[in-house]
Amino acid sequence: MPLAEKRRKRALKADGADDRHALQRLLSARSISKHTLGQILAQLREDPELANSRIGSIEAAGASIFESVKRSLIVGVGGDTFRWDFCDPNMLMARMLHECPHLAAHYVERLQLNPCSESQPWSLVVTYDELTPGSIAHPQPYRKTLTLAFNFLELGAACLNVGSTWFVPVAVRTKMIEKAVGGLSECLALYLEAHLLGDLSIQTAGVSFVCNGQAYTIWARLTNLCADGEGLKIGLDVKGYAGIRACIRCQNVLKKDSRLAHRRPGFVEITCADYSRFVLSTPDDLNREVDAVLAACAEFKAGRMSQNMLNECEKAYGINANPTGILANMRLRQCFSVVDVLTEDWMHGALQDGILNCACECFLESVSGKLSLPEDGLKDFLKANWQFPKVFRAKLLNMWRIVDKEGMPLKATASELLGFYVLLRYYVNVVIVPMAASQAVDIEAELAPFYAACKVVDKIMALKRGHADAPHREELLGDLQSAMAECISLHVARYGTREIKPKHHRMQHIADQIRKDLYVLDCWVIERLHLIIREILGNVRNPVEFEASVLRGVCLKQMMTLKDTVLAGLIGPTAPLQGFPFATIANRMRFCGMYISIGDVVTRNGIPARVTACAVEDDYFVLVEVWLATGVAQRWRPTDDVQAWKVEELELAAAWYADGDDVVVLEMV
Ligand SMILES: [Zn+2]
Repeated sequence: MPLAEKRRKRALKADGADDRHALQRLLSARSISKHTLGQILAQLREDPELANSRIGSIEAAGASIFESVKRSLIVGVGGDTFRWDFCDPNMLMARMLHECPHLAAHYVERLQLNPCSESQPWSLVVTYDELTPGSIAHPQPYRKTLTLAFNFLELGAACLNVGSTWFVPVAVRTKMIEKAVGGLSECLALYLEAHLLGDLSIQTAGVSFVCNGQAYTIWARLTNLCADGEGLKIGLDVKGYAGIRACIRCQNVLKKDSRLAHRRPGFVEITCADYSRFVLSTPDDLNREVDAVLAACAEFKAGRMSQNMLNECEKAYGINANPTGILANMRLRQCFSVVDVLTEDWMHGALQDGILNCACECFLESVSGKLSLPEDGLKDFLKANWQFPKVFRAKLLNMWRIVDKEGMPLKATASELLGFYVLLRYYVNVVIVPMAASQAVDIEAELAPFYAACKVVDKIMALKRGHADAPHREELLGDLQSAMAECISLHVARYGTREIKPKHHRMQHIADQIRKDLYVLDCWVIERLHLIIREILGNVRNPVEFEASVLRGVCLKQMMTLKDTVLAGLIGPTAPLQGFPFATIANRMRFCGMYISIGDVVTRNGIPARVTACAVEDDYFVLVEVWLATGVAQRWRPTDDVQAWKVEELELAAAWYADGDDVVVLEMV
């Protein structure tokens, strides 16, 4: 061999060319990332025997959890049938608690605070939502999937705010459910029967698990069925927009422009802002109404009533006749009343084409007509060097993109809108209000409904951040109720009723809901779960075994995530804190569902500080550099005064930016 070639070969070898070739071959395999490959290789080093695994054993490992809890139902779809595979919810829960000792230990901790027995059951929350796989640019609507998850209110915010603690027994293609004879409502009823009824259900026998050698049992009854407005409408056979009656929770609330409210004493429309005027439905009211609609349906089927009359009857009650639906199910009526368990998702009500979107859009449109606002002023303001808590940073950094030329927020995600309104309110205070004053233009009528809508979200977020079960919650709930009333009355006073939607009315029930649950339930958690499920959906190509394939992946992924999940405490690598032999520090921590990272700005009693370490000794606390007031509202000056603050006393700041030597800090107030 010529010398040059030898040398070249030697150089390649020294460069690891053989290894590199093998790694390149692995990396080029479909959809494997560098990170995943790294994890696989690390696992192989730990357990070299794994290298002998064949495809059969891989499949068996993937299927074992789902196969052990699988349940199938035959559902009528048109003239045909569909085999619906899902997880038996009670078996799934028992299996997960068996596999994940961390979670079981948390259940035991909460059982000590909230003892549970057959006569004193826990509160079961069931939530469902649809997920469209693919990207925003390339959605795959034909693979749209309904996912359903459940958890227990007694587990507290620390657990409920963590997506992986919600068990997911159902993932089913929406197109199959739509074809079912009784639609989603029938499928929900079938699912709830499996969960609540039967000899081995959570309501009758309870679900048992063992923790540290001791056996425990959880009994529960359904207290919350949570979904967005559209989900509740379809799931409960409610008419919504199309009915004369706009809200099944109220006896006397009619749709907008019904032209009937003034003729019936005591009736109001959804534009009414006075909560005390609503006559709330009782379970008996609802049962009576459902029975009336079903009787009309039976008359129609017997040929004694016209289709038209049936339609009129359905519209008047605001309920669709569905003999196999959830409202008509006599067995489930023994377990719960839909009036009591119905839980509106405030996130969709306020942030997704909801009351806050409506308030921001009306405000900006009206104000830009009255004042000569600088073109792109709001966009440039949003583009400034804003910083956000690390947990939201990736979602909010490009927030300016949601604003178009006229300053109107376009389609924004709920998280983006949550960041946006805090910044917009600051922009209004420091730019728009002074400009109106200098141009001698009165914008008071525009400001008032905008501030009211912001206040609604402020109060819900405050309750969500761990205050919903605190003694001072009544004060916050009172503020929320009055802010919501103002949000409607001030809007109607300035803009009329054109933009008022049923969501405005339904948001007036949120304060009562939180008062009952001592927790702010919303679909945020299930959206976080969707991130995991979306990834799995992307890999499922099997249309015959679709449901089983997705659930196999979800069960496995959830179990592995739960094994590593820290419900409260430091996250990632830790180190001892110098000078404090019993203290440990890390870059991140989770507390009460709140993530805090180094570099975040937190506030205590309105004073901001920058986090320099997350620590645990006996308590959880953060080391911070406390900032000094400058005398100008919301402007602070960084110092190197280091203090240790207890985490339970803190709030995360919403956003901040450095302006010269000062930092502007915005809070959700
Ligand atoms: Zn109502």
